[in-house]
Amino acid sequence: PAARAADKELLVAIDAAFVPFGFKQDGKYVGFDVDLWDAIARELKVGYRFQVMNFVGIIPALQTRNVDVALAGMSIKPERARVIDFSDPYYASGTAIMVRSDNTTIKSAEDLNGRVVGAKTGTATADWIKANLKPKELRLFQNIDDAYLDLRAGGLDAAMHDTPNVEYYVKTAGDGKVKVAMERKTGSLYGIGFPQGSEWVQPVNAALKKMRADGRYAAIYRKWFGTEP
Ligand code: GLN
Repeated sequence: PAARAADKELLVAIDAAFVPFGFKQDGKYVGFDVDLWDAIARELKVGYRFQVMNFVGIIPALQTRNVDVALAGMSIKPERARVIDFSDPYYASGTAIMVRSDNTTIKSAEDLNGRVVGAKTGTATADWIKANLKPKELRLFQNIDDAYLDLRAGGLDAAMHDTPNVEYYVKTAGDGKVKVAMERKTGSLYGIGFPQGSEWVQPVNAALKKMRADGRYAAIYRKWFGTEP
């Protein structure tokens, strides 16, 4: 790994609109993905710079090799794994529904049938809603925070996204106006993305394994989620 450091600065795509994995705070990019990557890069002694992208642009950017790596709370899915490479899983996630605090009618995914629902373009949740539910309207947003604002303003009946994101938003930015209506266990696992055949998959997996064993992974996890991994 030391030899690699000299030859290359990796371009690392992040989704900076996905609390608490990637977001901007006091002019800086922060979050679980940001800290995890920084720790991996230190372990591998490789330089890097972040490239902020819309989630929907990340897989195409890996496919065209415009970026070297991507951390975006990206769920490992077979159709994605056919076009990019994934690291070993680094986070176990699910999906959750956010409603306004006064809502008493939406308690399950099926309760979204016939409602106006918001989700994020290109995500596993958007695909799942299309395949499994019949909302009156599915509004897709590039930035899920805009869906949450639309929900608060009364435009949406509910928004659905990854559980840690919904929980973190409700807790830190919800102002008591929104709540978690329900959480769905999906078995979804996040992976770090690479162009197919990337030489970085194996070293990154080795770094992850080492960081899980020596507590560095747990420290980052505790910092952002307040619990043990
Ligand atoms: N985990 C979800 C997916 O991969 C959403 C990730 C995100 O919004 N950054 O589809």
